[in-house]
Amino acid sequence: MDAVLFSWREIAPEVRHFVFEVPGLAELRAEPGQFVSFRGEVNGRRVTRPYSLAGLPRGNRFELCLNRVREGLFSPWLFELEPGGRVEMQGPLGYFTPRRPFRDAVLVATGTGVAPFRAYLQAPEVTGSGAQITLLFGARYEEALLYRAEFEQLAAQNPRFRYMPTLTRPSASWQGRTGRVQAHLDEALAGRTDLDVYICGLKEMVEEVRALLKQRGFDRRQILVEKYD
Ligand SMILES: Cc1cc2nc3c(=O)[nH]c(=O)nc-3n(C[C@H](O)[C@H](O)[C@H](O)COP(=O)(O)OP(=O)(O)OC[C@H]3O[C@@H](n4cnc5c(N)ncnc54)[C@H](O)[C@@H]3O)c2cc1C
Repeated sequence: MDAVLFSWREIAPEVRHFVFEVPGLAELRAEPGQFVSFRGEVNGRRVTRPYSLAGLPRGNRFELCLNRVREGLFSPWLFELEPGGRVEMQGPLGYFTPRRPFRDAVLVATGTGVAPFRAYLQAPEVTGSGAQITLLFGARYEEALLYRAEFEQLAAQNPRFRYMPTLTRPSASWQGRTGRVQAHLDEALAGRTDLDVYICGLKEMVEEVRALLKQRGFDRRQILVEKYD
């Protein structure tokens, strides 16, 4: 199956929100948290890379959120793609999906690791579940708070959703949390150990957060992870 690029826009320096469509398909079926697997030939090498769906598909259209890995192989190639360009794809695949029924949860992400959580937060089985949800999101700079306006709007509308951004390289005008997500985990947990914690991003952060949760008495079944590297 091929995906065709419909549009893209830059949402932060070196980060793009892509919209693809699958020609000939009426509806792409996916659960929040799943990814598509892209394949291509780059510099004579056959490469496969997974990308989390950054929202729920609409009809045959789906969204991705990607950052360009400077020394990377496939992400720079995808950043060269213009609307109409094709990519071979498989999926949606994967099991990093919201538990059913969805319980009170903390979602922890850094960088483009927020993509699957954007899909979670569009899903009625998550936001309509009555569960209390905290999104703890780490980025370097304020401009890199991906989908900030959407999450702030959701927090304003839904008293059960809390948005906790933190920056590692804040400007002087930033008045919010600073430092890594690890430093704010206890605030997000608010003393509770009966929550599910979903973690998505690069493995160093994922493993550190997992270790902190274990120290606080979380069972491994309460910790769901997706590692990007
Ligand atoms: C299940 C899954 C879902 C993923 N979803 C996304 C997604 O939604 N958006 C996305 O941008 N990436 C995502 N990735 C990472 C993606 O598959 C590629 O690894 C990434 O695009 C780099 O590929 P590359 O060929 O450009 O770099 P490579 O030549 O493979 O170089 C890999 C290097 O890039 C680093 N790296 C991998 N991913 C990232 C990243 N996101 N940010 C910074 N450094 C990274 C690795 O640590 C490694 O050092 C996902 C990975 C997995 C396993």
